[in-house]
Amino acid sequence: MNIAVVCTGNELLRGTTVNTNLTFLGSRLTAIGLPPVLALTVGDNLEQLLDALAIAFRHADWVISSGGLGSTCDDLSRDAAAAFCHCELQRQPALAEQLRRYWRQRHPDEEMPDYFLRQADVPSGGVVLPNPDGSAPGIRLAFRLAGREKVLILLPGPPAELEAVFVEHVLPQLPDAGRVPPVKQFTVAGGAEILVQQKMQPLLAGRHVGLALCASVEGTRVFLSGRDADELEQGFEAARNLFGDQVLQGGGLELIPEVVALLRQRGLTLVTAESCTGGRIAGAVTDYAGVSDLFKGGIVAYSNAVKERLLRVDPEILRRHGAVSAECAGAMVRGVCRVMSADCAVAVTGIAGPGGGSAEKPVGLVYVAAKVGEAVAVRECRFRGGRRQIRLQTQAQALLLLRELLLGRERNGGISFEN
Ligand code: AMP
Ligand code: MG
Repeated sequence: MNIAVVCTGNELLRGTTVNTNLTFLGSRLTAIGLPPVLALTVGDNLEQLLDALAIAFRHADWVISSGGLGSTCDDLSRDAAAAFCHCELQRQPALAEQLRRYWRQRHPDEEMPDYFLRQADVPSGGVVLPNPDGSAPGIRLAFRLAGREKVLILLPGPPAELEAVFVEHVLPQLPDAGRVPPVKQFTVAGGAEILVQQKMQPLLAGRHVGLALCASVEGTRVFLSGRDADELEQGFEAARNLFGDQVLQGGGLELIPEVVALLRQRGLTLVTAESCTGGRIAGAVTDYAGVSDLFKGGIVAYSNAVKERLLRVDPEILRRHGAVSAECAGAMVRGVCRVMSADCAVAVTGIAGPGGGSAEKPVGLVYVAAKVGEAVAVRECRFRGGRRQIRLQTQAQALLLLRELLLGRERNGGISFEN
């Protein structure tokens, strides 16, 4: 069985809203072995919606659409579904009553516009999928097309509502729900995509295992797929073994949970000192709940004065080498560990751009430092890209360096160890 996704909304085409519904649906469907075969994004336009449904159903038996179920004039998914399936929209009295109540609770002093009740219109034969978080319910519509059974699922656009309705009312209905995922994945920390592929190719030759690679700031994400579960598992184990401890443990794709696990296993605390990342490393670490046992805090040391006063960086270092220097990064990482009484730290200082670069210290020059116990490592990085990209890469490199120290090894050269 094939599934396609149709996302609706002018805001998605214009770039004002990121299409997180596709990310959600894609990952949840992939997790049960049903990755979408096709995804289309269309604006709030009836003709284009109908075309999108026609294309989607050419490739899939189930189509899940997101958005366009509200009560305003640009919400056209119900109309598109009814037109596509050649049926009428019928107002459901029970739903209409529910909507009246919903309105009264939220806007007791305003009269309800008639338009609001459009959300009680359901294509005939459609099943209502209750929405616990919003006014517009989802709809499931089964019909025949060219002699085949087809199912159209309409889900509300607000991500929290889409997710709730999908998990509650769609996932349990999917015929293959619960099947073992046919994709296995791991991340090679710090590995360049092309080199990872080169190393893996001989191993996968002759196996019926598909390989996909995706570069990320922390390294290369590797996705292996295959129909035969045993063969896939063997290929996966062999591939992981090729890269030893460069593979993020726990099979995850994310660097921070890995670093957190390594710190926790060793009973170590962490602090951060950030200049060019302005606190985003501390922010990213605390995006994960439950790290308060090991993450003590961080200092955003953007100015030299803060580097000197709070991090106790020697003014002589700043005068002689400048704030963007290996010496300053080393002093920052030592200083933050001392003033915050932590076992481990990362520190970063660099030029994120777009201004502020020079011939000697160009935009993208960044020093990351890590300290674990008495071991300190500082790495010089020369990143490319815009400000955002440079800051993201800085974050990843700082955490990769910390990981290397935690694992008791250094890699890639360019690291100076000072005890
Ligand atoms: P709609 O149901 O189309 O009126 O959308 C309601 C809200 O959900 C709007 O704020 C949309 O920007 C948001 N939304 C709709 N589709 C998506 C999507 N694919 N990803 C993230 N947000 C969305
Ligand atoms: Mg919309």
